[in-house]
Amino acid sequence: MSLGKGNLGHGRPYLAIPGPSVMPDRVLAAMHRAAPNIYAGPLHEMTASVVADLRRVARTTAHVAIYIANGHGAWEAANANLFSRGDRALVAVTGRFGEGWASSAERLGIRVERIDFGKQAQAEPQRIAEALAADRRREIRAVLVTHVDTASSVRNDIAAIRRAMDATGHPALLAVDAIASLGCDPLHMDEWGIDVLVSASQKGLMVPPGLGFVWISDRALDRCRGADLRTPYWDWGPRANPAEYWQHFCGTAPTHHLFGLGEALTMLLDEEGLEAAWARHRALAGAVWTAFDAWGRGGDIALNVAEAAHRGASVTAARIGGGGAGRLRDWCEAEAGVTLGIGLGMAEPGSAAYGDFLRVAHMGHVNAHMTLGVLSVMEAGMRALEIPHGSGALDAAAAAIA
Ligand SMILES: *Cc1c(COP(=O)(O)O)cnc(C)c1O
Repeated sequence: MSLGKGNLGHGRPYLAIPGPSVMPDRVLAAMHRAAPNIYAGPLHEMTASVVADLRRVARTTAHVAIYIANGHGAWEAANANLFSRGDRALVAVTGRFGEGWASSAERLGIRVERIDFGKQAQAEPQRIAEALAADRRREIRAVLVTHVDTASSVRNDIAAIRRAMDATGHPALLAVDAIASLGCDPLHMDEWGIDVLVSASQKGLMVPPGLGFVWISDRALDRCRGADLRTPYWDWGPRANPAEYWQHFCGTAPTHHLFGLGEALTMLLDEEGLEAAWARHRALAGAVWTAFDAWGRGGDIALNVAEAAHRGASVTAARIGGGGAGRLRDWCEAEAGVTLGIGLGMAEPGSAAYGDFLRVAHMGHVNAHMTLGVLSVMEAGMRALEIPHGSGALDAAAAAIA
């Protein structure tokens, strides 16, 4: 590949992939300290306020369990506490992450029934209801749904799924993966009737990877007491209602992550405000979408999810044909210091089509200049690489922000 001027990538790099996301300097500074006492003092106070803030960010009064884990660990935590070996789960799949949660359950010994809605459309509540209605023996313990599937950028309508489930009278619990949406897209655990919510630190919460969270409704806590897949480390019981500080973490606390998370939640909830953060993500996403629409009018370029109301606000999956997406990613990283996300689960790695997909993250500590900068860099790359594209994308993005 001919790469242009050589040194325009120098300067502060920008990782515009959907996790890990950009970490605020204040979060890093909060973590930059000597190891604290884990038996008493500021860390204990910090943990109490972090737990309270984790409830606020999910709009819930539910119990919260914090794990030293990434999102895969949080999936497994939810599965291990929800199910007994041989129980049934119904999983709505709308991309690679829905499939990931399903296969994580399967490997634990849970009998998984998938409803695959493809990679470009929302889960249909009616089909979930039909699957529950067909389960006359009431064997399905829980329905697992990804709120925003980070691979496809499909956003599912959780409230509508809950209503459809309720209409069947089936007792299945509703468990939701909000790893890519928490702090970015509106999410109301209690109002939407979510029983178990799963998230992690390194996306909308702006903290390094390493913390996984599971929120547990009273109903789920009660109904899952006998679940026999739980193991000492993943058991949510003591973590959600610890009698001793160490039970929060089943051992040593994730000391520095907690200080970082405390700072991030203060920024999100007390300074910006959660609703303002949702609006910011929506506005930045709108700028990205309008740019892609303009590019697509003059080239083989398209957003993955055609219906705007079905897209998440934190990440945009798109296609640039002829391997353009892969070449553009390489160019942006080498020539401009911007790393875009790979297309995940859209085509086999190594296949020709693999180079047709990319993702742009606008998740967490991201503002207008960063997103407009990414779009401008992408346009420069398309010109340099002679990737056919429609004109006016940057005008349209600026107008969307204005
Ligand atoms: C990132 C992500 C995961 C996986 O999280 P890891 O920390 O990479 O294990 C799962 N689900 C969704 C929706 C995600 O965005």
